Amino acid sequence: MTLEEKVAQVEQVFLKLDAEIAAFQHASGLHCPSGCGKCCFKPDIEATVIEFLPVALEFYKRGMAFIWLDKLKDTDTTICQILNPVQAGQGLCSEYKHRGLICRLFGYSARKNKYGAAELVTCEIIKDQAGYQAIKAGIESGESQVPFMHDYYMQLYAIDMDLSRGFYPINRALQKALEVVLHYYAYRNTT
Ligand code: SF4
Repeated sequence: MTLEEKVAQVEQVFLKLDAEIAAFQHASGLHCPSGCGKCCFKPDIEATVIEFLPVALEFYKRGMAFIWLDKLKDTDTTICQILNPVQAGQGLCSEYKHRGLICRLFGYSARKNKYGAAELVTCEIIKDQAGYQAIKAGIESGESQVPFMHDYYMQLYAIDMDLSRGFYPINRALQKALEVVLHYYAYRNTT
């Protein structure tokens, strides 16, 4: 499989997830206030390399892969470097279209807790919204349809086991994705 084919497969998984989340938001009424993005400032977000292949390829196509690689190598912050805190409009991600899997999942996906019960992985802002307690109960009972994090990580695992295996601080995951892309094209013609 070429790198471009791999990225296309990852993007298909993202599209499917986006549709599932949109359906969950519509059914539940839960939503992010316009321009929020507070979750992006969490300093302990972890991600896989594969979920940042799309944005890494995009940076490569724009001729910015080495610029981003140097920027990421030089930083020791754990807050995502793609974040643009002064950006106007919806959210603060400067690469929203190409954002990673965890960036899509957080807020509107579920995991099984240590008691085996399904629970929404979300923030205090969403937990304070009207109807949240009913949705929480619906997810616990299996009546509410919600995407599960594990299912989506398994779909990426099926695309590339090696690039899906480890979880890294978000900037390191992006750095590694850029290294994969640059290594791939070091031996091939550019796109
Ligand atoms: S998930 Fe929560 S913190 Fe993140 S953008 Fe939505 S409302 Fe804000």
